Amino acid sequence: MSVNHSDSVEKIVERYFSAVTKKPFKFKGKWYEPKPLFLSNQLARGSTCPLNCGACCPVFTLDYLPGEETPEDVSDRQFKFNDNWVTVRSNEQPLNRTSHCCYVSREDARCQVHPVRPLSCDFELIRPRACKERNELRVAMFGRAWNLTNAVDGSKGTRCKITDPTDESIADTVRKLNRLRKWANHFGLGRTWIPEIIDYLQSGKWKSGPIILGANNNIPAILPKTIRNQVPGLMDKSAHRNASELVLFPEYQ
Ligand code: SF4
Ligand code: SF4
Repeated sequence: MSVNHSDSVEKIVERYFSAVTKKPFKFKGKWYEPKPLFLSNQLARGSTCPLNCGACCPVFTLDYLPGEETPEDVSDRQFKFNDNWVTVRSNEQPLNRTSHCCYVSREDARCQVHPVRPLSCDFELIRPRACKERNELRVAMFGRAWNLTNAVDGSKGTRCKITDPTDESIADTVRKLNRLRKWANHFGLGRTWIPEIIDYLQSGKWKSGPIILGANNNIPAILPKTIRNQVPGLMDKSAHRNASELVLFPEYQ
C-alpha cells in the first residue's frame, strides 16, 4: 500500500509563488492576490549545513521541472494552475514508511542527490512569510526548528547556523531565485518580483537596509514598529516620509 506525503509543489506555489507574484493566480480552487513584498537585508545572509542533521529532510514529494536533471524514479504529475494543466516530474516516495527522505544518509545525514536536489530543498533557508498586508522574504532559521527530527539519532532540533553576507552567499541566493523564476515561467506565472529581488542583492542596495517592493499606495503610511526597527536611522516622526523613500520599484500594478 502506498502512502501520501506532504506535497512540495503546493509549498512552492502557495508559499514561494504567492510571495513573489505581481499578478493574481488560482491554484487548487483558491485565488492568491499580489501584495507588497518586504525584502529584509537578511536576504543577503548565508547558512551552514553541518553533518549529522537531516532534520529538514522528512518525507515529502521530490519535484522537478521537465528537463531538469533528476534522480531515478520520477514520473509525471499534472497540476491545474489558473486554467492550464502543468506537468511536474515527481518522486512521491509512495513506499517510504520511514520518518525521513529516501535520499538522506542514515550515516551522516548528507543528501545523496545533492547536485540534483529538488527546488523545495534547494530553496532553504530562503524563507517567505505571509502577513496580512504584505509578504516578507529573508534568509532565516526554520520557524519550528525545535520540532524537527534528526535523521541519524532521532534527536530534536536543527544544526544549521546563519552566516554573515558574502559574495558567495548572495550568488547562491541569486542562483536559487533564478531557479524559482524558471518554475514560475513553467507555470505561466510570468510577472514576478524576482528580477527586482536579484537587483536588490546584486547592486548592494541591501546594505542600506530593507525595502518594500510594490508598496507605493499599498502600505500603511506609518510603518509597523517591527519594520521601523529594522531601518537604520528611521525615526517614528519621519516614518511617513521614509516609507515612500523605501519604495525603489513603484511600477507595481
Ligand atoms: S536542518 Fe539545517 S543543518 Fe539540518 S539538514 Fe536541514 S539545512 Fe542542514
Ligand atoms: S532530496 Fe536531499 S535535501 Fe531533499 S529531502 Fe531528500 S535528502 Fe533532504
